[in-house]
Amino acid sequence: MTRLPDPSVRPGGLVDQFGRVARDLRVSVTDRCNLRCTYCMPAEGLPWMPRAEMLSDEELLRVIGIFVRDGVTQVRLTGGEPLLRRSLVELVAGIAALEPRPKIAMTTNGVGLERVAFGLKEAGLDRVNVSLDTIDSETFTQLTRRDRLADVEAGLKAAADAGLTPVKVNAVAMRGINDQSVADVLAWCLERGYELRFIEQMPLDAQHAWDRTQMISADEIRERLSERWELTPLPAADRGSAPAERFLVDGGPETVGIIASVSSPFCAACDRTRLTADGQVRNCLFSTTETDLRGPLREGATDDELLGLVRGEMWRKRRGHGIGDPDFVQPDRPMSAIGG
Ligand code: SAM
Repeated sequence: MTRLPDPSVRPGGLVDQFGRVARDLRVSVTDRCNLRCTYCMPAEGLPWMPRAEMLSDEELLRVIGIFVRDGVTQVRLTGGEPLLRRSLVELVAGIAALEPRPKIAMTTNGVGLERVAFGLKEAGLDRVNVSLDTIDSETFTQLTRRDRLADVEAGLKAAADAGLTPVKVNAVAMRGINDQSVADVLAWCLERGYELRFIEQMPLDAQHAWDRTQMISADEIRERLSERWELTPLPAADRGSAPAERFLVDGGPETVGIIASVSSPFCAACDRTRLTADGQVRNCLFSTTETDLRGPLREGATDDELLGLVRGEMWRKRRGHGIGDPDFVQPDRPMSAIGG
């Protein structure tokens, strides 16, 4: 791979060597979670980040502002579980006050969303994605190790009532757990007006137990859904940098999306960048390196200096995530500490 050796010849903006431009910043606001999804973390949870290591709201807003002024147009709050950050509403309001004002989205498990959906909307949140892998209460409890399906359902409804639309639902299909019921999840979402997207399971679990041969592929999901509905692919040209391949369900207007992150990676169109709760910039979910902003920030770095670090991290973004490569190494940080 050829790298330009002199950072001063880099073009401006959050660009990489392959011409991709980062527009979508995913911010993990905490690594803590109130569910214990079996494919994400162990039953006992993980050693959470000490609070002192996490960026304060003021620090987060300063860093997000740097990204926004350098071309990021959407900020997605994630975690861990973002609703566990007590100051979330104030944080959203702070992001909404940035110039230029980015679109603000959130990925959440929906537990507790019922209470804050309106407040978040008022503060400036535009949209939510709620993660829900099954609508069967027993399977939900087994999968998340918590009996909270009713809370998630209430959260989804509150999000729709608050106008956090389109309300999207993200589901991961797992063999022997919920793969036989993917069509039930779609039927449930269609009835309620939620836009469902299935995501292939990725090697990002804290336990390092992911096994490609066990993964339910995008093709398999499509086949299962096609047993009940006619799926018509939407033109690829409409996809842009969106990861989901979308299909009209029985002629539409409803759609379902399938994100083939592993079997058919979309890295060439990736416009994402990530900031962890402890102030590390990651240019890819699968990066094994990251750039620390917290240290320089707390040592008095200027915005320009921080911007230089961010641009450097983006410049080093690899062509692809390399999951299929023989030398692929799963990152040390699990999904819950990166932000999905
Ligand atoms: N707690 C929030 C939630 O549940 O949406 C945000 C963080 S969670 C890590 C974000 C998303 O990552 C969820 O939809 C979850 O299902 C997904 N996820 C976690 N581990 C995954 C894996 N190994 N492969 C694919 N998706 C995963």
